Amino acid sequence: MGGDNYPITLKTDNVMGRYYVASRGIEPGELILQDDPIIVSPNTPTDSASVTCVGCCGVSQTSLPCGKCGWPVCKQECADIPEHADFECKIFARQQIKTPLPSPYCFIAEAEYIKVLRCLLLRELGKDDPEKLERWNMLQELEAHIELRKTIPKLMFMSKLIRNFIHDVCNLTEFDENTIDHVLGAIDVNAFKNVTNPMLPPGTYGATNVHINASVMYRKGSIVAHGCRRNTQSLTFPNGKLEMRAGEFIPEQEPLTHAYVDLMLGTPERRKILKTEFYFECNCSRCADPTELGTYFSALKCTQCPSGFLTMDNPLDFCPYWKCNKCPEIQQTEYETELLAELREEEKKILKSGRKNNAMIGSWIELLEKYSEKLHENHYALLQIQLHLIRCMAKVTKPPAELVEDMHKLVNKYKKLYRTFYPCMDDDQE
Ligand SMILES: [Zn+2]
Ligand SMILES: [Zn+2]
Ligand SMILES: [Zn+2]
Ligand SMILES: [Zn+2]
Repeated sequence: MGGDNYPITLKTDNVMGRYYVASRGIEPGELILQDDPIIVSPNTPTDSASVTCVGCCGVSQTSLPCGKCGWPVCKQECADIPEHADFECKIFARQQIKTPLPSPYCFIAEAEYIKVLRCLLLRELGKDDPEKLERWNMLQELEAHIELRKTIPKLMFMSKLIRNFIHDVCNLTEFDENTIDHVLGAIDVNAFKNVTNPMLPPGTYGATNVHINASVMYRKGSIVAHGCRRNTQSLTFPNGKLEMRAGEFIPEQEPLTHAYVDLMLGTPERRKILKTEFYFECNCSRCADPTELGTYFSALKCTQCPSGFLTMDNPLDFCPYWKCNKCPEIQQTEYETELLAELREEEKKILKSGRKNNAMIGSWIELLEKYSEKLHENHYALLQIQLHLIRCMAKVTKPPAELVEDMHKLVNKYKKLYRTFYPCMDDDQE
């Protein structure tokens, strides 16, 4: 497995598990692999005013009930899409399971139950359909970290709730605890988010006129390792097909990497998410480098000298010291965590304030000025405030002229940093 006609080789070792390496030098933009989904399911909408269609996974502000089960679809044809009609629709209709789900099941987003059901039902439907059975078998091969998950109380609670839903509400008692836990773990560790960009005009490469919010599982795609500076670009099409291309030249034997988490986060935050949600400690070259490839993406300003920066003495330690590159100043790990928690708190307050965009601009500038005193100018939290500011400016009719020029500079700086972690052939593709 692995090869087909693609320039990749499958490898296995104790540290990285299964992963792909380049079988020869791969040129930037070259096709690395294509994959069809094992299963596609709707994702929970990011804002509470929207609904994700259980048929096409399109996001909309209004919905219709599916004629058979009553769950939301954007148009009646979507109720007949096989991923819905042949899967959970039959169970929901038979057991009269209505949305919204009652307590205690409402503690978990409804889309999560659909994801699990679609995976499990592959086994049942596979009894009469070899293609579905093959997809069920592929799902069994995926990493699920069942034993590790059993040590995390929150996951155990969720697993029990979902199991009760499958057994008691759906009346599907044929799925035992291990089978359900494997599916849950496989979804958490391997699912890709297929989110199309609603801003792209229809007809552009990879764009549709609906904004899709789907969760997709792949066999080959799931084998690609994580990199905090990833070397591949992936594109998911509305039908769920995945295409991966080289984001830069990839030398022979180099592991292929893509991003499991947002790479526009600093090392302490990224490594924490990778450890708690993907169960590994990332020791990649960006994580091991206190300057994060020369960007100073998590660096703080020194409190004792005018031009020094505090970086982690050992970024691979979860409680590092922060030491100055110009003077003997050292800070405990709490200095950084408290500073960022305080910034996040103030950021949240502004977002929730409901002020008009003009007033918001003032609040963001104030916050920027305050934290520019404490953080390196490339610090990721400062960049995020700058993005809020840019979004506000885009919404007002007459943004202050002196700010517009600054914004152009900021956008260019952001692009440059983005490309450091997400190398890419063509600036307009992502
Ligand atoms: Zn739809
Ligand atoms: Zn239905
Ligand atoms: Zn890393
Ligand atoms: Zn200093």
